[in-house]
Amino acid sequence: MAKVLIVEDEETLARNLAEKLRGEGFFVMTAGDGEEGLDKLRGEHPDLIILDIMLPKLDGLSLCRIIRRDAATAHIPIIMLTARGTEVDKIVGLESGADDYVVKPFGLGEFLARVRAVMRRAPGRPALQDELVSNDLRLSLTGRRLFKDGKETKLSNKEFDLLVELMRNRGVVLSRDLILTKVWGYDYFVDKRTVDVHIRWLREKIEDDPSNPKRIVTVRGVGYRFEG
Ligand code: CA
Repeated sequence: MAKVLIVEDEETLARNLAEKLRGEGFFVMTAGDGEEGLDKLRGEHPDLIILDIMLPKLDGLSLCRIIRRDAATAHIPIIMLTARGTEVDKIVGLESGADDYVVKPFGLGEFLARVRAVMRRAPGRPALQDELVSNDLRLSLTGRRLFKDGKETKLSNKEFDLLVELMRNRGVVLSRDLILTKVWGYDYFVDKRTVDVHIRWLREKIEDDPSNPKRIVTVRGVGYRFEG
């Protein structure tokens, strides 16, 4: 059963959302402020987080950034609830790492549609997975370290995030747009060529022959695919 954590200080709304989500087959947990939310998500490893922005103690945007920075929680889909509907606030919400947002007041039908869409997009990854392994490569997600043939290879933050995304989607072609969204977030000012540059750097670190890559393959006109 998928677990959802609702972090919302408006009790009536939290109760209504909880009831709806239970009806959808979720195991539902609730937290009434940001700190309680952080405690619960670290203890319970939810599969989805519904996060209000305006919260006592720790606001939703800060909590979202904390969730995204921690490799143990970075992959959990987040839907933000916001009463502030201006474009700027929406962008801030997405830049903080949220997968989607709903502007209050919203209908429960719309809310459930968003939940279903986000859950469909979320790959079924175990919440506690700490390692990605492929042949002689081993990535420690919580330690953010790469070992090649047992020896540590230093990666920059973005190289690490990029490799995680590639390894998690082994055999699947990832477009530059998708990579930009997943690794750089919703930062529209990053050039697509940034992806190519980071792929080149990554190849220099993990390919036996970077000029003839066998692990990160270029799919012409589309993007890149991790082969193993
Ligand atoms: Ca609130």
